[in-house]
Amino acid sequence: MKTLRLILGDQLNPNHSWFKKTDNEIYYVLMEVKQETDYVLHHAQKILGIFAAMRDFKVFLTKHNHQVIYIKINDKANQHSFKSNLTALFKAHKIKKFEYQEPDEARLDEELKSFCSQINLPSKCVSTEHFFTSRQEVKEVFENKKQWLMESFYRYMRKKHQILMKDVNEPIGSKWNFDNENRKAWNGTPKTLKDARPKHNHSALWNEILKAKIQSFGKHNASQFLWPLNRQEALKHFDFFVKNVLVHFGDYQDAMHKDETRMFHSLISFALNTKMLSPHEVIRKVERSYHDNQISINTAEGFIRQILGWREYIRGYYWANISSLNNENYFNHQLPVPSWFWNGQTQMNCLQYSISQSLNEAYSHHIQRLMVIGNFSLLAGIHPQELHHWYLGIHIDAFEWVEMPNTIGMSQFADGGKLASKPYVSTANYINKMSNYCEGCHYSKNEKIGEKACPFNSLYWNFFSVNATKLAKNPRLGIVYKQLRDMNPDLLKNVLSQAHRYIQSIETL
Ligand SMILES: Cc1cc2nc3c(=O)[nH]c(=O)nc-3n(C[C@H](O)[C@H](O)[C@H](O)COP(=O)(O)OP(=O)(O)OC[C@H]3O[C@@H](n4cnc5c(N)ncnc54)[C@H](O)[C@@H]3O)c2cc1C
Ligand code: SF4
Repeated sequence: MKTLRLILGDQLNPNHSWFKKTDNEIYYVLMEVKQETDYVLHHAQKILGIFAAMRDFKVFLTKHNHQVIYIKINDKANQHSFKSNLTALFKAHKIKKFEYQEPDEARLDEELKSFCSQINLPSKCVSTEHFFTSRQEVKEVFENKKQWLMESFYRYMRKKHQILMKDVNEPIGSKWNFDNENRKAWNGTPKTLKDARPKHNHSALWNEILKAKIQSFGKHNASQFLWPLNRQEALKHFDFFVKNVLVHFGDYQDAMHKDETRMFHSLISFALNTKMLSPHEVIRKVERSYHDNQISINTAEGFIRQILGWREYIRGYYWANISSLNNENYFNHQLPVPSWFWNGQTQMNCLQYSISQSLNEAYSHHIQRLMVIGNFSLLAGIHPQELHHWYLGIHIDAFEWVEMPNTIGMSQFADGGKLASKPYVSTANYINKMSNYCEGCHYSKNEKIGEKACPFNSLYWNFFSVNATKLAKNPRLGIVYKQLRDMNPDLLKNVLSQAHRYIQSIETL
């Protein structure tokens, strides 16, 4: 039966069972549509990276004798929406059946479901064969439980998939989690390695994108584009990481530094989220490296937890909460995203470095996203949904299913604590401990009040003071509220008015 199979831009998995054999009756379609580039303002590297990887995937399929229809961004017949292009293709190719892989974003999931209910063709949605869990598995694990805890889901996953286990129920190292050993600051040693990612010249593709008048922001160098664009490149990049970089991942997972973009992080999120790499193979390789005595247990466990634990948990949380995630705003924060989020021009060194890095590289690592940018946004009272759109646009790995729960739930506590047991916020103290950003900063890390006082210091106490009715009973915040109660009333008054002044003048901080 003549069948059309849709492949989305984040479904570039050459090992999917769809491609195991060729069939003259099956057509694959990939399309570059403005529907997908324009739903949020995107970083130039994100648009370039996804289109380039899709074009590479088309070459792979053709080389393996599959029939491929590829609709380019400037093709005359391109109607720039999945529905319109698919309808036209059904007619042009006399298609009798339509198939697609489960979209990871609810927006597309809804759209394709409703499209299938309207067409007069049989249709089928198949698994992407990528994740360890089904969409509903995390929800099922927490059925009838009061609180969702990533740690208990993670232990369930370790046991279920027998990863880093001594025997059926006993973890290697006799501990499930080595996070306490993963908090070293970095002061220049061990040495980081040069970025070994492949360089691509995508100038021609960039010109096509410009011609299509797609809005974008951020820095890119199309002639030296750095992200892996197919499975071979992604594997090579990941193998290099496992062999040379991973050894220090655990120790310095939370460290930040002015001169280092990547520290000892893997930079695999783009390849993983577009499914060039599978989480199964990534985890098995890291596990093997531990068994070959190449890395310590705290490194192996710390890395595997990110993927087997956090990544799967975040996805399950997304599908369980999608109906409310778009409206969550627990603290009723209303401040717009400051204009310097789009150019990095702030006097706060930590934000200047982290935001500029995101604008230049379409990448910042977890602690920059969480404990610098997210931390400030929550303390200042930025609207969580506006912030979600900023995060969704800025990073090359940003797809709603993973970005949104991280922003709304983990970073902004906008869901009232369904995902995180307490808000991830800090004063300058934490940032200074984990980075060298405070050195040479316009603001003083030690001061709470005064012209040069670090904004984090007053905003932190203001946040807990203003939100006491919502947070004071949280058992994990007992110490914070005790400190607040014990603070000299005059000092507290001055700290709160300092915070108000900073919020009023957020554009000039
Ligand atoms: C506000 C905020 C927004 C985020 N937005 C995204 C996003 O859009 N896309 C995205 O993939 N990740 C996102 N994350 C999670 C995390 O920051 C990135 O996965 C990580 O920085 C990617 O870099 P890496 O590949 O070098 O990761 P490494 O530090 O090397 O970690 C390895 C892998 O673990 C996984 N991982 C680690 N932490 C998380 C997490 N919290 N949630 C899900 N997976 C995780 C990722 O797949 C990552 O590639 C966000 C985190 C925060 C706090
Ligand atoms: S002093 Fe404050 S604003 Fe400056 S880098 Fe340190 S934490 Fe950031």
